[in-house]
Amino acid sequence: MNKKWLSLINDLPHADKLICPNCGQKQIDYIYVGDDTSKIGYLQIWCKACRKGIYISRVRIPPNVKFVSFEDSKRMEMPSYEFL
Ligand SMILES: [Zn+2]
Repeated sequence: MNKKWLSLINDLPHADKLICPNCGQKQIDYIYVGDDTSKIGYLQIWCKACRKGIYISRVRIPPNVKFVSFEDSKRMEMPSYEFL
């Protein structure tokens, strides 16, 4: 998996400042989806401009990030992009 994408993870609370490793635009967005109690889930990071991104399974969901429960994610429109 692309290290440049992985390096974005720690700065996701400031996603508006992040630069897409693929196209160079500041269009990064992300969502953590997981279990409300265990706070284990998966992470999707993608670029709204070029529609590329990554998917990381089995992550611990930190505080102060965009998070939805598995349950709520079924009622949401999830991002569509190409996994790198
Ligand atoms: Zn991009």
